[in-house]
Amino acid sequence: MPSVKFPVVKGKRVVFPKDHLCPWCRKRKLGKPPGMAILNAGALRPTAPECYTMADTDAAFMTLVWHSNDPANYDDTSIHIADLVNTGQFELYFCSTECLRAFLNYCVDELERRRRSYRHRQVRYQKGNPGRQFATAYPLSRSRK
Ligand SMILES: [Zn+2]
Repeated sequence: MPSVKFPVVKGKRVVFPKDHLCPWCRKRKLGKPPGMAILNAGALRPTAPECYTMADTDAAFMTLVWHSNDPANYDDTSIHIADLVNTGQFELYFCSTECLRAFLNYCVDELERRRRSYRHRQVRYQKGNPGRQFATAYPLSRSRK
């Protein structure tokens, strides 16, 4: 399993991976036949009715979130796959749908791992701060630092 650091795209970095090898299997070159699987995401800006262009002055993001509804077992957490991507759009390339699927499974696995870790940290935090909760893990706005 490859080592993946999240977010995989941020700021000026709008494509993943940096090189031309599949970021999951690290075996196949992405430009070789038969082709590649692409996760393309972002925003479009309306310019006229039924017309859109790249929202290149906006920042794109892609986040997986677990939102807890149980105050007794509060474990909100998130994973930023893409964050504050300058061009408003980004692309993740894989040599096959199998590698794309494995990457997405890895992302969901990481979200589950963070939930378990959050619960563990919360128990330790609440022992020192009775009655207090962690802040929400997925702010709806943030600043570039
Ligand atoms: Zn691959």
